[in-house]
This record gives sequence, structure tokens and C-alpha cells, in this order.
Amino acid sequence: MDKIIPQTGGCQCGSIRYRLNATPSMLYVCHCRDCQKQSSSAFGMSLMVSLDDVEFLQGRDLLKTWDTRGDDGLVKRCAFCRHCGSRIYHGSVTANRPVSIKAGSLDDTGWLRPVAHIWLDRAQPWIKVDPREFRCFAEEPDDEQALSAQWRQQLAQE
Ligand SMILES: [Zn+2]
Ligand SMILES: [Zn+2]
Repeated sequence: MDKIIPQTGGCQCGSIRYRLNATPSMLYVCHCRDCQKQSSSAFGMSLMVSLDDVEFLQGRDLLKTWDTRGDDGLVKRCAFCRHCGSRIYHGSVTANRPVSIKAGSLDDTGWLRPVAHIWLDRAQPWIKVDPREFRCFAEEPDDEQALSAQWRQQLAQE
């Protein structure tokens, strides 16, 4: 399964470079309003990985953060490049909780295949997701562990 690791990525201007040293636990697409705002687009892609497995190769001091509060009431720390503004990751400040790497920042996005679409109740009206291809959730997924297992299985089969 670790044939895909390591993976490198960076911000849009190239000042910040990072490497993922472990296989992410899940990839999903989120259509919530926060993700639309954050990406300035239609949805966000969340690649879940422990921050300990994200190694900054360059520009770590250029990483700027701001805090907001998620729907779960927890503080969400958002990290972005202070030069170009690209969001690199965000996540709970609680230790040992995975962060959401913004998957579009990877150099190679060809292997990415989300396991689920979540918050479809908030999706832009033109978005149609085939439930035979992806797990679909109107809001938050009910069982993240099962989803994660499915994502790892899917990855292993590629
Ligand atoms: Zn940048
Ligand atoms: Zn979202």
C-alpha cells in the first residue's frame, strides 16, 4: 500500500514544500459552505494524515495560521502560505487528531480518488454525484472508521 508514499506537494507560489511520509487515512470531498469559502471554489478535498507525518522541506517559517471553530465546536487551525495564500492544511488543534491536507496542493494528484462526498445538502446545484461510485452523505459521514477502511482498501487495489 505504501507504494504511493512519499508524496510531495507545496503552495501555489512554491515557497512552501512538504512531503507526506505516511499513507493518509482517508480522502473525501466536502461540499460544506466552509470548504466552498476556503477553496474559493465548489468543494474541498480532504486528505487526512497525522501532522507528524507531514515533513516540511522548505518554507515552514512562511506557514501562517488562523483559528476558526468547526461545526463540531472544536477549534480548527488553518495553515496557509503567507506569500500566496494557498491553504496547505487545517484541522483540530487537539494532539493526535489527523489534519486535512488540501489535496490539490500535491504535485501528483493522479492517484487521488475520494471514497466519499459529504455535506451534499450544501453542494452547488449543478453537482451530481453517482452514489454507485462514491459513498454519499447529506451531512457528516456516520462511520469514519468504516470509510477509512474502504479508502485504504480502494488504494491497495490500484
Ligand atoms: Zn506560497
Ligand atoms: Zn467542508
